[in-house]
Amino acid sequence: MNHVTPLSRTQSFASLLIDGPASRTREEERLHRKQRLAATFRLFGRAGFDQGLAGHVTARDPEHPDTFWVNPLGRHFSRIRVSDLIRVDHTGAVVEGDQPVNRAAFAIHSAIHAARPDAVAAAHTHSTYGKAWSTLGRLLDPLTQDACKFHGDHALFDDYTGVVLEQSEGARIADALGPNKAVILRNHGFLTVGETVEAAAFWYLSMDNAAHTQLLADAAGTPQPIPEDMARHTAGQVGGARSGLLSFQPLWDLVVAQEPDLLD
Ligand SMILES: [Zn+2]
Repeated sequence: MNHVTPLSRTQSFASLLIDGPASRTREEERLHRKQRLAATFRLFGRAGFDQGLAGHVTARDPEHPDTFWVNPLGRHFSRIRVSDLIRVDHTGAVVEGDQPVNRAAFAIHSAIHAARPDAVAAAHTHSTYGKAWSTLGRLLDPLTQDACKFHGDHALFDDYTGVVLEQSEGARIADALGPNKAVILRNHGFLTVGETVEAAAFWYLSMDNAAHTQLLADAAGTPQPIPEDMARHTAGQVGGARSGLLSFQPLWDLVVAQEPDLLD
């Protein structure tokens, strides 16, 4: 499967500014997404986002867009390699790989990928700050420049009905997500989507950080949000898909240098 030269190991930041999915073959694009997906799990593991069997990040297959690559059930994020990823079809069947899929991963992500053709990737874990924020039942405020990337671009799924096992529940979450880059699942956690694996992963890391920041600020006093017009202006500056893609690159460089086995 990994006979294609991993362009990514040596890909420079400068070349990333020029190269894009359009310049890759389907095989190269598949490998690109799988490598970023494996790196995302390593980064999420470092961030402490693992929580037992919970958490999944998916990448749509470039050749069979009604299927997606995902982590196998029960493997710690910090150990995931490219060869561990499994591909799941629109019925929930594993069509590549021999590991089981998390049923909630299928129920949620299949609905998201179906509802959002632009979403190449979706990320969801039970990270601590996202989970803590989700209990408040409200959106994040534009308290900082970084948080502005979610201003006017995230939604609230204001319901909790147990572990998501049915596609109909996944569809309700996709409905709540709408055209946004993220949705807060009440009493559950965050979910982000991106036009690239890189963007979905970076949005997740950044949103958990925004929740952490607001929880600290709210606990310390009465934080002053950025005024609406300036928050919207800043969102345009820091919230674009390209910004997410490029922001992931230093993390990718670091984790591949330190844990090259993730590419196996
Ligand atoms: Zn969950």
